Amino acid sequence: DLLVVGSANADLVIGVERRPGAGETVLGTDLAVHPGGKGANQAVAAARLGARTALLARVGDDDYGRLLLDSQRAAGVDTVGVLVGGAPTGVALITVDPSGDNSIVVSPGANGRLAPGDVRAAASLFHASRVVSTQLEVPLETVVEVVRSLAPGSRFVLNPSPPLPLPREVLDACDPLIVNEHEAKVILGDACVSDRPEDWARILLAKGPRSVVVTLGAEGALVASGAEVSRVPSVKVDAVDTTGAGDAFTAALAWRLGTGASLARAAAYAARVGAAAVTRAGAQASYPTAAEVDAL
Ligand code: ADP
Repeated sequence: DLLVVGSANADLVIGVERRPGAGETVLGTDLAVHPGGKGANQAVAAARLGARTALLARVGDDDYGRLLLDSQRAAGVDTVGVLVGGAPTGVALITVDPSGDNSIVVSPGANGRLAPGDVRAAASLFHASRVVSTQLEVPLETVVEVVRSLAPGSRFVLNPSPPLPLPREVLDACDPLIVNEHEAKVILGDACVSDRPEDWARILLAKGPRSVVVTLGAEGALVASGAEVSRVPSVKVDAVDTTGAGDAFTAALAWRLGTGASLARAAAYAARVGAAAVTRAGAQASYPTAAEVDAL
């Protein structure tokens, strides 16, 4: 029912007392390796909730690629669309300092080789999907091809992360465009004339999307469609680690929309999923089941 097209990365995490300067070496903690990448995270989050989910992505023919395939399969994701080879698996080199701040270097690797032709070759996945969810950790031309490949009546959800100016063809297809505060500001660029997220939502909507969602961390989210902007209440939780909360939110929203929920109801559910995800450490490891969301 849900097709996620996007990135799959191995997250390589080392804790450090402080970051090295140029030419300097510092010692860190033992290496931790986690499956990540926005596409892989979204697919796992949706499947964990019980959504029938497929992932279209590209990994390398290497150990990290196998780690990512294993984590998708363990969550119940259909991996027939996960292509192997062409470049090493994408990697994020992450250092975390004692205050919890991250510094990250991403090597897109195989994600950068997910090509428009790979999208065209996956037509059967598109025909089986009510909702297709994408991010920008794969080439923009591939995202454009996703828009052109949507089956009649199916819905396109985009989280433009990392944010780039988007062509009109992509903006017009979004239903919704999902942005956090940082992404909203980059996509708006010179049109970001206000500090109010309500205004961002309205101005983004005027750029073409059929609907817009602005996520506001602990403050919840805003949904906008037609002339209306409404607030999605946040859920009060003790936040432990917000990594991957946006991906869980987007996956939950896309899945609920595919089951026929209204945008407001789907976003309210997604906010609960996002809140549950911040109560546990990690990205994929923090994602709740539907029963855990109901218990929140
Ligand atoms: P991103 O991870 O992309 O920056 P946000 O931080 O806006 O996105 O988080 C996405 C969603 O996850 C929010 O809209 C909210 O529903 C939920 N969320 C995130 N942080 C918290 C928090 N501290 N408490 C409750 N919910 C949260």
